[in-house]
Amino acid sequence: MNTRNMRREGLARQRPLIAQLTLEEKVHLLTGETAFTLPGNDRIGLAPLAFSDGPTGVRGLKFAGGEAVALFPNATLISGSWDDAIAEEVGGMLADEAHRQGIHVVLGPTINLHRSPLGGRLFEAYSEDPYLTGRSAAAYVRGMQERGVAACLKHLVANESETLRNFVDSRVSEKALREVYLLPFEMAVQDADAWSMMAAYNDINGTTATEHAEIQQRIVKDEWDWDGLIMSDWFAVKRTVPSANAGLDLIMPGPDGPWGDRLVAAVRRGEVAEATVDDHLDRLLLLAERTGALEASGTGERDDEADLPLPDSAERREQLRRIAIRGMVLVKNEGGLLPWDGAGPVVLAGRHAVDTQGMGGGSAHVNPPHLTSVADALRARLGDRVGVVDGVEVRTRPLPAELGFVTDPVTGEDGMRVTFFAADGREIATRHEPGTTITVGFDDDFEEKPTAVEVTVRLRNHDGPVRVGGIANGVLTLTAENGKVIRREMPITTVEPAEAMLRPPSFVETLDLPAGALLTLRLEIERVNWEALFAANPQLDIAEESHLLVTGTFGTVALVAEQRTRTDDDALAEAEAAARDAGTAIVVVGLTDEDETEAHDKQTLVLPGRQDELVRRVAAAAERTIVVVNAATPVLMPWIDDVDAVLIAGLPGQEAGDAIADVLLGVAEPTGRLVTSYPRADGATPAWEVTPDENLAVTYSEGVAIGYRGYFDGLAPEPLFWFGHGLGYGTWGYANARVLPGEAEAPIVRVDVTNTGERASHEVVQVYFRPADPAQPIRLAGYAGVDVEPGRTSVVTIICDDGLFRSWDEGTHGWVRLTEGDLLIARGLGDIRARLRTS
Ligand code: BGC
Repeated sequence: MNTRNMRREGLARQRPLIAQLTLEEKVHLLTGETAFTLPGNDRIGLAPLAFSDGPTGVRGLKFAGGEAVALFPNATLISGSWDDAIAEEVGGMLADEAHRQGIHVVLGPTINLHRSPLGGRLFEAYSEDPYLTGRSAAAYVRGMQERGVAACLKHLVANESETLRNFVDSRVSEKALREVYLLPFEMAVQDADAWSMMAAYNDINGTTATEHAEIQQRIVKDEWDWDGLIMSDWFAVKRTVPSANAGLDLIMPGPDGPWGDRLVAAVRRGEVAEATVDDHLDRLLLLAERTGALEASGTGERDDEADLPLPDSAERREQLRRIAIRGMVLVKNEGGLLPWDGAGPVVLAGRHAVDTQGMGGGSAHVNPPHLTSVADALRARLGDRVGVVDGVEVRTRPLPAELGFVTDPVTGEDGMRVTFFAADGREIATRHEPGTTITVGFDDDFEEKPTAVEVTVRLRNHDGPVRVGGIANGVLTLTAENGKVIRREMPITTVEPAEAMLRPPSFVETLDLPAGALLTLRLEIERVNWEALFAANPQLDIAEESHLLVTGTFGTVALVAEQRTRTDDDALAEAEAAARDAGTAIVVVGLTDEDETEAHDKQTLVLPGRQDELVRRVAAAAERTIVVVNAATPVLMPWIDDVDAVLIAGLPGQEAGDAIADVLLGVAEPTGRLVTSYPRADGATPAWEVTPDENLAVTYSEGVAIGYRGYFDGLAPEPLFWFGHGLGYGTWGYANARVLPGEAEAPIVRVDVTNTGERASHEVVQVYFRPADPAQPIRLAGYAGVDVEPGRTSVVTIICDDGLFRSWDEGTHGWVRLTEGDLLIARGLGDIRARLRTS
């Protein structure tokens, strides 16, 4: 890490502007105006800042639906390249996407760690390793901020699981916090000067993140000498005064929230100093200055109109495909079956082959211009030689109707007609919606609060039995053209608002409907009675000014309409028979956004549905079997010995199918290395449990021994695949590893790397530091990638990071340097090529 110069001038520069504002005006600026915008102030030349999620695409100001934007490969594919240039390119592309939409702050990267593989939101985060996470984040931030768009590091801190996320207390030692969970934030501040951060929902050791003065104020702002802004996660703030005094600068979303008049009154009562409010404003105005939203800054108008590549332009498609490929990891390749020569017939099986997953669920979800499937991509290249067999069911919940299945009865376009009603029955707005899911009461773009919403579709040209229904909280009425009316009461029962919004209940019924039938789904929107929900859960202590209670209703509504007649037994038998005939089989398995999503954790790493059975039966029938895993996070592979090759393809974004096809056919090499260890069984990990205990605590009892650090020290059985593992299409000889003499803070390692294979290939040389003190865990301390032609040798230099050569002393509350120990030069800790002493 670099040590930053003291920089306070940016903050001081804002003072003359702040002096022009009344207390009320100041406080007004410290809560959002809408779901994703801030208020502006003409008098001081402050334009309204616009925020957008997030890590896999700049979604814009609408939570669901919205315009089509580029869908990026997920975070594990970006860090999986182990290449700063890739993360930097992603940051730059996201900045372009932000400029195209007038967005000033992109709410990412997510730099929480893969602690337990059950965490539902890990797909948004980079790795189990803090150094790989910090380096990827710093590069992403650099790429983005260079173009005048702010990154937002999230979520500060110890937010590694989703269950009861507003109430859970992450109990984590001071040492683990410093060495592991805060390290990526520290690196992105020190190495890339990130301009903002987001405070998490959870508590850390008994104090909720938004009120954590020790973390927000003392460590991040004072100790790191950081001049950025900390915003709350959405609706995360629980109390007025403690949050305002703890270093939190901005509450999101708005316009209502626990600051406003309450904070003005608290200042008047002397419970919050006006100087504290001014400090929050210094940071807000500096963020505006940095992102070109402050006239007085002289930074000029932002060039939002510039001619930037569209999400489906050839340039973007090439970039997105290449980035996805760089992070894909080949974990098994018996007899060099891959790259596959494409000869002869092949059967391609699995739901993920036809419905390839490009992203996870929640706030990272975007509306892409297209999402290519593996089936389409392989068919386009190999034609009829590919026999495609849709697989077994992989979901347990109904999906919103597919585009193409339903149309807007007014415009005839794909999508639906949406009408919002006021309490007196008046129509507030009616419009075409290009998708089949909308949000209400959260990101509405009209003033009046609707009390009901109706979505209407026409079935395109299906008739006969159609499964129809709705997904939403509240009272739903579905009316079909044949006169059939279905009414369901599905009130919110969870105390986790995000779960209510992102995983609402659903109903489905099968109706016999003629082609072109009309369907209308109406939702009566009632104010959510959070008070009653909390009263029924007294262990969830909630203050009356909690942001949750101050704001009323929000939710999503989706319409279900689908026709599926095949059973799993049919699918299994069909795949097995086709595999026997073809000889070569490719099975695409994986998770969906039911499993890899915000607001929910997994219960198991077993593949959903009967996918394991599908792989086993196909593998037994085919001569050669290749498995593609379309998931960002570890799954169990009980069939690993029965198959020839396994490619971890992650969630590859909008170019998913083409990227996977390129890799299978050897057009490109899967150059990724695992960012997380893959365990052998449920529970066989250093950290597992994500459900809070009776005290609402999740205890990080493994301390600093997260992931491979813990496996290496025997905290869990050896993983199936180690962090850092990845075969690519090359084979490698390592020789002549040495530590360069010199005065550098951390060792510099040099090693000769020979490509002993037959094609040009990419290698990632990893250096792990094993301190002599056995109480200190092994840790990744440096890495470097290199491209080498066959038969050639490259001399690779790895500059280790001094941030990994220290340990936190809980007695003195300070860092202690670690110098003595071993350096392991490895391709993941399952393949160690050399050992050196540090000096
Ligand atoms: C998520 C954040 C996200 C925010 C805005 C929250 O539910 O935790 O990561 O940026 O919503 O969509």
